[in-house]
Amino acid sequence: MNSPHHRLGQAMVGNWINGRPSGAAGRTSPVFNPATGEAAREVLLSTAGDAGDAVQAAAAAFADWSATPSVKRARVLFAFKAWMEKNMDALAMAITLEHGKTFDDARGEVQRGLEVVEFACGIPHLMKGEFTEQVGSGIDAWSIRQPIGVCVGITPFNFPVMVPCWMFPVAIACGNTFVLKPSERDPSPSLMMAQGLKECGLPDGVFNVVQGDKEAVEALLTHPAVAAVSFVGSTPIAKSIHQIASMHGKRVQALGGAKNHLVVMPDADLDQAVDALIGAAYGSAGERCMAISVAVAVGPVADALVEKVAQKARAIRVAAGDAPGAEMGPLVTGAHLEKVRGYVDTGVAEGARLVVDGRGLKVQGNEKGFYIGPCLFDHVTPAMKIYREEIFGPVLGVVRVENFEQALSLIHGHGFANGVALFTRDGDSAREFASRIQVGMVGINVPIPVPMAFHSFGGWKDSLFGDHHIHGPEGVRFYTRYKAITQRWPTGIRSGAEFVMPTMR
Ligand code: NAD
Repeated sequence: MNSPHHRLGQAMVGNWINGRPSGAAGRTSPVFNPATGEAAREVLLSTAGDAGDAVQAAAAAFADWSATPSVKRARVLFAFKAWMEKNMDALAMAITLEHGKTFDDARGEVQRGLEVVEFACGIPHLMKGEFTEQVGSGIDAWSIRQPIGVCVGITPFNFPVMVPCWMFPVAIACGNTFVLKPSERDPSPSLMMAQGLKECGLPDGVFNVVQGDKEAVEALLTHPAVAAVSFVGSTPIAKSIHQIASMHGKRVQALGGAKNHLVVMPDADLDQAVDALIGAAYGSAGERCMAISVAVAVGPVADALVEKVAQKARAIRVAAGDAPGAEMGPLVTGAHLEKVRGYVDTGVAEGARLVVDGRGLKVQGNEKGFYIGPCLFDHVTPAMKIYREEIFGPVLGVVRVENFEQALSLIHGHGFANGVALFTRDGDSAREFASRIQVGMVGINVPIPVPMAFHSFGGWKDSLFGDHHIHGPEGVRFYTRYKAITQRWPTGIRSGAEFVMPTMR
């Protein structure tokens, strides 16, 4: 499977339950190759019964897996790390063929997922707990973190390998069992990883995959045997997942959408800022939750910034993700393409100046593919729909402000608060910005400040519902519960029952 030209063969993408493929006939949905616009295969839309089967398999596997020594669990992840390295190109090609992003970018996605697996290999170290000898006379106390049970992951289309990897390696290494509900737009990589985990020695039932939509999700959120739910996707769904799962007594982390700003100060290195904007706005066709979709031009920098970004945006090579030299691929589906085009029409109607218009783009030989070229708006204002809402396409808007304080209050006025960046040469502005900004992930001269796997990832405000960021140390806290143990071994004469709380005297 490790050839870069591996093609996805199967006509139907089904489930993976208890260590084997599963899935009866039922409702299905087409999975497209976005580069050609063709429906390449179907994905099963599981019933509540299918979801229940997966939870049951995970619940049955929990007793043995949670009692397995943590180093033995980690060894499976060590093997899986090697498996991912060996199969990186096959996984990346599967992403490109269903998501549309370029092959090199897909390899980068697999690499980011792999880094969480590497982190999970060291989780025994984080499960050690803390010990205090002699908290009272002859009494020792310690605290430990224990797994919580069956954990569910519901993931978005834009990172079909990396986002599941934010969840299951950490959950499994901590001793939980897992049910993944991947996006129905690009479901194939989930089954490849399930097969890989089995080859690496993961016991049956520890990792399961249920394909589907709302029906499967609701069954998972309300199932009495599910302990925790991790969700990554759009804000309206994140909010509703957080409410439903919380109401059913689950621990929940639900990561939502974004509108990430990049502030360009007048003292910034303009060419660096422009390159950063081009990669962060148009990479993966803007379908990244950490994509930059708003450039905030401070003071006199605006005209030169818009001119330079426009020039480079027009030169971006848009082609099928597996075409040599492609810099930007198609959007994920025809429906999403229509939505993004609709936003560009709205921006024009709202009075923003469309400096680069990618709506007419056609890719020769792939006329039915879901392509739109880079779009750039200038003179975007905070009241506009194209500013307030997440477009999730290659559309960058420039908002002009007079000074640093205006940039800060602009960002604070937005409902989303996932990532943000400041480009400057002034350490004082950088420090002030990092300290005062109300956003979860901050980059100083770094356009996409995604934390490494051994830190944790998450936004604030409408970009995350729940108490914990994802993966890294926050992931270990989310997937474990804390237990405090106090112990004494009394010998000699008993003094009888005590009816008062002990004092220091
Ligand atoms: P989405 O919200 O449409 O879907 C996410 C998941 O929820 C999918 O598995 C989908 O099948 C399921 N789902 C969809 N509708 C549902 C419903 N009504 N009830 C229950 N489940 C439902 O998101 P998407 O379009 O796949 O992904 C893009 C979105 O994800 C963007 O908003 C992006 O910002 C966000 N995202 C956020 C992060 C982050 O870390 N904050 C990371 C990646 C993507």
